[in-house]
Amino acid sequence: MVVFCFLVDQKRKVKRTKPVAGSCSRCRRGASVAEIITKTRFCHIPFHRRSYKAILCTFCGATLKTYP
Ligand SMILES: [Zn+2]
Repeated sequence: MVVFCFLVDQKRKVKRTKPVAGSCSRCRRGASVAEIITKTRFCHIPFHRRSYKAILCTFCGATLKTYP
């Protein structure tokens, strides 16, 4: 039996958050710096992994700034 799989999924995981000076441009609440890891899988096989740092709003979850 041949199973064709076109399932691609991407998971975003936020690792470590630390409060940082500054506020969100949307809701004016506190921001925090986080390490974000994204994993892309094709047919349940991980083939791409990327991590980057970003400043996120702790309240609404908006990404305020990303670092490569
Ligand atoms: Zn916000």
